Amino acid sequence: MDGFLEKACEIDAQILKNERMSAHTSFHIGGPADIFAQPVSVDALIKLLKLAADLGVHVELVGAGTNLLVRDGGVRGVVISTRRLCGVKIAECGSGYAVIEAECGVPLPSLAVFARENSLSGLEFAQGIPGTLGGALCMNAGAYGGVIGELVESVYCCDLSGNAFMKTGAELEFGYRKSVFSRGDSVALSTRIRLVRGEKDDISALMESYAARRRETQPLDMPSAGSTFKRPEGHFAGKLISDAGLKGTTVGGAQVSRKHAGFVVNIGNATAADVLNLCGIVADEVKRKFDVELEREIRVIGED
Ligand SMILES: Cc1cc2nc3c(=O)[nH]c(=O)nc-3n(C[C@H](O)[C@H](O)[C@H](O)COP(=O)(O)OP(=O)(O)OC[C@H]3O[C@@H](n4cnc5c(N)ncnc54)[C@H](O)[C@@H]3O)c2cc1C
Repeated sequence: MDGFLEKACEIDAQILKNERMSAHTSFHIGGPADIFAQPVSVDALIKLLKLAADLGVHVELVGAGTNLLVRDGGVRGVVISTRRLCGVKIAECGSGYAVIEAECGVPLPSLAVFARENSLSGLEFAQGIPGTLGGALCMNAGAYGGVIGELVESVYCCDLSGNAFMKTGAELEFGYRKSVFSRGDSVALSTRIRLVRGEKDDISALMESYAARRRETQPLDMPSAGSTFKRPEGHFAGKLISDAGLKGTTVGGAQVSRKHAGFVVNIGNATAADVLNLCGIVADEVKRKFDVELEREIRVIGED
């Protein structure tokens, strides 16, 4: 790691040692990363990946950490955060449409606001999803009938050795809360998103109605990573968990939200072990009562 650290300091990135991942996840949970690197340009990100590959250093990529549970032992190797890669521009305008080009660290809510300010419709659903564009591509994030994958024209990507290539939206294998990026062997660097022209007032009104629905139904005042489990075929995870009588079930500092049973919330000093134990109890009980398997939506990294 010392060799990596010495060379990484020559790259345009903020480098921190033994950085607690609880400061970089919406759950506020997670042990220390040996090295936490925040490149300030796509070039610097590629250089960090190349350096890590050359020296055989393990890499974990994170965006805003809003779909992430980092285990209590933290991460051996380097965590690369994309949060400083926030460039956004209109790349192309045509009759009735425009293409936005955005770097992977742009927060989805900012991207939705950028689209609205330019009277572009299609990203209204994304305003309340607190992750970055890269994380959204990995998870094929969506809400209220919209999903990011449907808007993607192409993505400039690289592999974990820093070799860059382009992929069209159709090549990214978007599915329900997954894409090629879920395999963890490639990185979305920047993305072209195609939107249609709309009326700014209509776009604003739709965004506000989605935001109101979230405020009403989701525990937005508590640390969480959004929906804990994927929607099982033919069911809603939150309803199954609620019908199983599990609202409010608590392990240590982790609790099944009383407001929305689909969310596990950190009610104070929860550990990753608390969350994982609670997830196990919930999945077992739902299987026992309804014979439905729950699959975790939140991604888990790091060591026990
Ligand atoms: C209150 C709340 C509400 C939420 N509501 C929704 C919702 O309505 N719909 C929804 O889909 N999700 C929702 N989420 C979950 C989360 O915000 C999304 O999954 C989001 O897309 C994750 O983005 P992120 O940047 O935080 O990714 P992270 O959590 O940092 O990472 C998630 C995965 O993406 C990978 N990744 C990150 N950046 C890149 C990149 N550039 N290239 C390749 N892979 C990358 C990581 O390696 C990791 O595997 C919610 C979360 C919270 C806390």
